[in-house]
Amino acid sequence: MIACLDLEGVLLPEIWIKFAEKTGVEALKLTTRDIPDYNELMTKRLSILKENNFKLEDIKDVISTLKPLDGAIDFHKWLRSEFEVIILSDTFYQFVNPLMMQLDYPTLFCHQLLIDRNDLIVGYKLRQANGKQEAVKALQSLNFKVVAAGDSYNDIGMLKQADEGILFDPPKNVISDYPQFPVSTSYADFQKKLEACKIKFEM
Ligand SMILES: [Mg+2]
Repeated sequence: MIACLDLEGVLLPEIWIKFAEKTGVEALKLTTRDIPDYNELMTKRLSILKENNFKLEDIKDVISTLKPLDGAIDFHKWLRSEFEVIILSDTFYQFVNPLMMQLDYPTLFCHQLLIDRNDLIVGYKLRQANGKQEAVKALQSLNFKVVAAGDSYNDIGMLKQADEGILFDPPKNVISDYPQFPVSTSYADFQKKLEACKIKFEM
């Protein structure tokens, strides 16, 4: 059995929100929690970066100051002792490498940024459309049982596809739009729900 976990909002803080706080550019605080369409959201973010002449290095400077959420390191360690774990994220490899070190380098499926010679982010390349859901589907085709967990709209596809889906600390609008999923707001409760999935999968 495999646990597929979203990254930002589950183990890490939201990188774009932290960058918005640091730079004071309010419009960069929008996340998948606010704009469900990821391409629309990224197009908006990239145009704001361009307007403000922000480079990849500026974002990496902020990221280098971030830490996993309180309790995330121990939770993740526990999870790896119970499940095979794959992180399915809509972030970018160029952003998160320093933070992956703090989580002891989990397996991470995410996307690539396109960077020009002047270190400007000129675009991004999604590995595939609906990557989270497709990854879960592929794992199921290898006869794995999958529990998926995330906090936001971009996780709903994988939660629906998985054998079990859990929302972790989601905003109210996600809970009311998708009342079919159980909700955890602490790692202790999250752990209990995952243990219950494991028992179910073993039956
Ligand atoms: Mg998230």
